[in-house]
Amino acid sequence: MATPAWPPDSTPRLFVETPLSEGAVLTIDGGQAHYLSGVMRLKPGEPVRLFDDATGEWLAEARDVRKRDLTLAVTKRLREREAVPDLWLCAAPIKKGRIDWVAEKACELGVDRLVPVLTQRTIVDRLNLDRLRAHMIEAAEQCGRTALPSLVEPVKLAALLGSWPAERALFFADETGGVPAAEAMRARPGPAAILVGPEGGFTDAERDLIRTCPAAVGISLGPRILRAETAAAAAVSVWMAAAGDW
Ligand code: SAH
Repeated sequence: MATPAWPPDSTPRLFVETPLSEGAVLTIDGGQAHYLSGVMRLKPGEPVRLFDDATGEWLAEARDVRKRDLTLAVTKRLREREAVPDLWLCAAPIKKGRIDWVAEKACELGVDRLVPVLTQRTIVDRLNLDRLRAHMIEAAEQCGRTALPSLVEPVKLAALLGSWPAERALFFADETGGVPAAEAMRARPGPAAILVGPEGGFTDAERDLIRTCPAAVGISLGPRILRAETAAAAAVSVWMAAAGDW
């Protein structure tokens, strides 16, 4: 008879800030303790999977389980930290629920870095990076990533372009037309970024500025005007299929 898979698929999976190693004992409190003991009804001796964005994924075992906190003993490494495809998503902030969705999908689809880009028509004036990061962590826990996407401080479009690394292709989603995305991406493998505008799109002046960047390639995502969040997810998907790890 086949040995049942261990840990079972239903094993809770959590990101922790503490660096993990064999034999480490962690105290979990706050929302994560509530999730494990209250929601998942974890009992002493039961397994948990942990990852720390540095050393991979580990199997741990519940020790003392209380309502407000519990201890987990790390027993063995299940996986090394993954190599993440070298893709940045540079996206203009859009309304709250929608940018949260972009952060979640960027993580699930395999993006390495999310760069919020401030453009002339950006209407969101304060971006809550903690909230965006929380969405990415939750997505990473659920989708099995062992490496979190990095999230950098918002940067103005001109500053982003001014310091653009020459070796990184900049696929600029241009709703006024460009090279079909799949064709452009297949033609330029290697480190890449996708740039997507806000709800109101880029201004003509911004489009001209982007085109002066030697690494920029204007791409089309088809004849329909997509919402910014749809354009972001679609462009990332096409890149992953053409050049990523799908
Ligand atoms: N300016 C548009 C809407 C912009 S859509 C208008 O109001 O009519 C938001 C962003 O999604 C754009 O800036 C662009 O980066 C991307 N986008 C949307 N549809 C696209 C398409 N068909 N091809 C390439 N990029 C697209």
